[in-house]
Amino acid sequence: MSITGNPWTDFKRERERERERERERERERKPTPKDWTGRRYGKLTALHYRDHGKYGAQWAFRCAGCGSEKVLPIIFVQAGTLTCGCKPKKTGWPFPVARGLDGLPVSPIHRAALATGNPLPECLT
Ligand SMILES: [Zn+2]
Repeated sequence: MSITGNPWTDFKRERERERERERERERERKPTPKDWTGRRYGKLTALHYRDHGKYGAQWAFRCAGCGSEKVLPIIFVQAGTLTCGCKPKKTGWPFPVARGLDGLPVSPIHRAALATGNPLPECLT
């Protein structure tokens, strides 16, 4: 029996309802992602939910170590089995290069580096 008297309109309505049911099923299949925004896991801070991957919910994280943004499955980050993977930032030479009246570095090592054009060893930069 026709609802509107127009079979074509009926068909479109039925199709619309079917699509709505499909969307409903889709929503039930995927669990609503929990909100971990702002949570810290070691150096990683959860920024926002990204998508659902092979290993469940994937989140965008900001790494306090290197400042980069990474998308990682949250279960591994929470379990502590996954980190950004970056190396800790080098502290480097903690003292500024002291310069003499001639404007050149006081340190003979820095002078030599400047004079020869050889780069300084990493621990002194
Ligand atoms: Zn990092």
